[in-house]
Amino acid sequence: MPGSSSLTLFRRRLLAWYSRHARPLPWRRTRDPYRVLVSEFMLQQTQVSRVEIFYPAFPKRFSSIEELARARPKAVREAWEGLGYYARASHIHALARVVRRDFEGKVPENPEELERLPGVGRYTAGAIACFAYEKPVAAVDTNVARVIRRVFFGDGGRGTRDGSRQIWDLAAAIVPRNGKRAWKFNQAMMELGATVCVARKPKCPECPVRRDCKVGRRLGRG
Ligand code: SF4
Repeated sequence: MPGSSSLTLFRRRLLAWYSRHARPLPWRRTRDPYRVLVSEFMLQQTQVSRVEIFYPAFPKRFSSIEELARARPKAVREAWEGLGYYARASHIHALARVVRRDFEGKVPENPEELERLPGVGRYTAGAIACFAYEKPVAAVDTNVARVIRRVFFGDGGRGTRDGSRQIWDLAAAIVPRNGKRAWKFNQAMMELGATVCVARKPKCPECPVRRDCKVGRRLGRG
């Protein structure tokens, strides 16, 4: 776990970079839980550029959880057409029905409750809690896990594979306690992993947090 002053610097540099470089993705402009939910389901197995094309149509076709819950399975599948991985369409439909039945149509805010819903894993639960309700909780997808592993573990360390307890514990410890900052921080971590700290060839020379990163510092010395 980094010291508090180095963590403060890391966050500050990351957030400043995000303010300047974030892509204007449509789901970043909303806090509507239903729309955030739709975007997270679509992003589970589909590239951002493709989701950008398909995302606007779904909430137009089914404007709320209620409407989605009432829809026929065939109609939901048709609205998912083009995105592939149709199990997601069945899951989001089943989720809408559970939310209507058990939560009076309101998407829960609590990650533990969210994780019990159909098609929602630990990452998606954290993402909905944070991106829709600005809860200061971790949301660790593959990109975030890679950034954490490189910055704080030097790309190694026992037990630091994606989804491991070490990665999640660290992610939870570094999320700002303020909800709005947590929202931005989690988005920024994902953005860094998607555009700079990419899987094959991380772009360390242009990385805003290279001075805070174990891998970046090592390369700087080389
Ligand atoms: S310095 Fe390199 S390895 Fe470290 S976070 Fe930035 S891009 Fe990733």
